[in-house]
Amino acid sequence: MKKLLIAVFFIGILGSLFLRFDPMGWRPFRSHSNSELQLLLKEYEKRLDALYTEHERLSLAPIDTNEIGAEGKRARDLLSISEMIQSYKYQADMITRERTLRQTLGRYFLGSFKPDNLPLILSALSAILFFLIIINERLRRPYPIFTGKVEESVKLEQYISEADLPRKIETGFSSKKEAEQWLKKDPNLFCEYCGGKMRGTSIGTIQQITFYKKVPPGLKDMRVKLGTYWYARPSPVLTCTSCGKEIHR
Ligand SMILES: [Zn+2]
Repeated sequence: MKKLLIAVFFIGILGSLFLRFDPMGWRPFRSHSNSELQLLLKEYEKRLDALYTEHERLSLAPIDTNEIGAEGKRARDLLSISEMIQSYKYQADMITRERTLRQTLGRYFLGSFKPDNLPLILSALSAILFFLIIINERLRRPYPIFTGKVEESVKLEQYISEADLPRKIETGFSSKKEAEQWLKKDPNLFCEYCGGKMRGTSIGTIQQITFYKKVPPGLKDMRVKLGTYWYARPSPVLTCTSCGKEIHR
């Protein structure tokens, strides 16, 4: 869950940057207000109307046959008007897209945010949730986790018969982290008399043991692996740093 929230947080930030720089030209966003957009759209529509009228007038006007090149000139004029019409149409289209986008955002009460800020809302929500989860974990923890040192002994290899494995696994952990957590959650790390911290040279020792299948006499060792486990041994002597109480185990 925490990893997911961290991922969402960064997706939000990346999304916001993406929309801000808009490398694909997806975002029809300008910093105009709604009424400015409305005016702009009206203005474009007016110009388009004028251009259409001009286009029609020019194409219907009789050609002066005495003038040399009059036909070519008219064709060029008509082409340039058509190009202007295309360009205004494109602009009007972009404005319409922007207005639709704003209206959609407004419907979800997000109208006051710029589109490139929207993913940041996602980031903020995931950050808040992340801290709520952490605070909740802190509050629910029955006793604070001891942050002392865990010692690690050299790795061991053992040859055992397969039948012995279940008994060996019983006291082991499948990961180093689990073994460490087990040591750190030891209630003996806090004095039962005064509540102070109980300390030893360390809070315990962990060791990795890899089990291999016992080699029958006379056969070559094929290193048949049965499994790797972590073992935790709490510190044999702990002394309370406040009242001096000692425990031996
Ligand atoms: Zn004590």
